[in-house]
This record gives sequence, structure tokens and C-alpha cells, in this order.
Amino acid sequence: MREQLERLRQDALGAINGASGEDALQEVRIRFLGRKGELTALMKGLGALAAEERPVVGQLVNTIRDEIETALEAVLAAAREKAKDERLRSERIDVTLPGRRPLAGSKHPITQVIEEVSDIFAGLGFSVAEGPEIEHDWYNFEALNFPPEHPARDMQDTFFVDNSLLLRTHTSPVQIRTMLKKKPPLRIIAPGTVYRCDSDATHSPMFHQIEGLMVDKGVTFGDLKGILTIFTNQLFGQKTGVRLRPSFFPFTEPSAEVDIACVICGGKGCRVCKNSGWLEILGAGMVDPEVYRHVNYDAEDISGFAFGMGIERIAMLKYGISDMRLLFENDVRFLKQF
Ligand SMILES: [Zn+2]
Repeated sequence: MREQLERLRQDALGAINGASGEDALQEVRIRFLGRKGELTALMKGLGALAAEERPVVGQLVNTIRDEIETALEAVLAAAREKAKDERLRSERIDVTLPGRRPLAGSKHPITQVIEEVSDIFAGLGFSVAEGPEIEHDWYNFEALNFPPEHPARDMQDTFFVDNSLLLRTHTSPVQIRTMLKKKPPLRIIAPGTVYRCDSDATHSPMFHQIEGLMVDKGVTFGDLKGILTIFTNQLFGQKTGVRLRPSFFPFTEPSAEVDIACVICGGKGCRVCKNSGWLEILGAGMVDPEVYRHVNYDAEDISGFAFGMGIERIAMLKYGISDMRLLFENDVRFLKQF
């Protein structure tokens, strides 16, 4: 009996040391100390012992049970500690790592210029007007004094939808639509998309214009120059020189091209201004009486001016962009710079 107990003790301690993990240790406990375990089975033999042997062997059984319990608890505690360490290590969070920033979009440079130009004119009392991009020939050409077969129509390579509908070649038809709806005094700007059959480094078949129109009693060419000087100074800087050159548009008389002193070289001459020191940025003029006739305004009673500029050209000059196509390729790396 003593020998059997001693063997059981050795077996149990060996099994405890050989077990890895909590589950295996629980199995060892059941195997030796459980109600149907090996120690319980041995104790059933106690009754067969001599009366004086029983307390001694009983004492030994208790000692062995305690020893196995203690060994089990110690190894179990170590196994639990190890499992906890591993879990903590695998779940470790480095709070000093930088977080992931959400990607933020930005406004397209064309949108930025439209907003900036609109803001400047809003400060001068102009409000924004809009019109359709698919336009009638009458609004786009005829009412603006481009009669059918007039050679000036060749200045604008037009996308036709059918005989009378086309993609507007300029924002000027918004002038006609506004004057047909309202009587003077009028101060509007009309930003929008326009289309011409033309494509190279400085032309795109789709581009943007801002049209301006002011009609009131006694508006003069001096008012036109004053408004445009305030505008260019605010957009390009306080001391930007402005120059008007005679030009021709069917819907204005007299007409002028408006130049600003080159924003790249300051007027000394460079590649961008083709060594002239000047950059053309818009076309303007006094509204032709023939246009007033189409919208039932009395040209004897009122006068006004109109101007129009390409947004892409303004954006290219303002941000130093050399190729217009960059504005429409929508490469995020390019657009993010603005
Ligand atoms: Zn220059």
C-alpha cells in the first residue's frame, strides 16, 4: 500500500510537470484527485489494512493529496500568468503612433477662381445670374448681333446640336435672358461652362467664362474702366497696371481688349507675356444698341457695358499653370496643391 501510494505520488508529480496549459493540468487533477481518480481508488484499500496501520497510511494519503494539490496550483498559477502575459503582448497598443487622418477634399482651382471673382463683383453690387448650357442660336448669336452668315460667327467654333440648338460658345446669352426678364438698372455676373471646338495647351473644348453686364442711366466707358481696374487690382494685387486696346465684338461698340501688367515679370518682359510686359485677360465694351433692340430696351434712355473673361486663363496666370489640360485631367496630386 505504501509502495502504491509512493508510485502514485511520483506519477502525479511527473504528470503535473509534463502538462502544458490549463486544460492539461485540469485533466491531471481529475485523473489523480477526482471522485473516480487514482487516489480515491487506492483509499478503498484502507479497510483491508491492520487497525494500527490505518491512521498512519491515512495520514500519508492526506500528505500526498496536499502535495499534489500544491504542485498543481503552483504550475496552474504559472500557466495562467504566462497566458495573460501572451495576451497582453499580442493586444499591446502603441498610443504614441500617429492616427490615420481622414482624407479631405479641396476645391478645384477653377471653382476657387469663380468664387473669388464672384466675391469681388458682389462687393461692387453685382449679383450672379445663370442660363442653360444647351442654348438656342437666337440667344447665343442672333440677339447678340451675330446675324446668320455673319463672318463673326467663325470666331467661335461651335458644337451644334441641330439647326437651332447648340452648346453655348460664351456666357453672353445670359445677358440676353436677364435683360428680357428685368428692366434696368442691372448689375449681373454670369459664371458658367462654355464649349468650343478647339483643343491645345491653351484651349479646351469645354472651359469656363464669367460674363459681366451693367446697364443703367448714364453708364460710361469710364465706369467700365473703373470697375475693371478695381477688379484686377483686387484679384492680382493693388498696383497691377491695366491697359485697354481697341478691339471688335459684335455685341459691344466700342470694344476693347483689357490687358494687365504681366504678373510674372511685372512688365519687364518674359516668356509668358511674349516679352510685351502685358497679359490679355478679358474682352469688354459698351453694349451695342442693336442688342438693346432685341431685348426691347430703349438705347436712347439707358447705356451699359459688358465684359467677359476665361476662368482657366485667370487660374493659369494666378497659379502659374503652363498647360490648361492639367486643370481637367483631375490628377489629385496636381489639384491638392491649390
Ligand atoms: Zn511677363
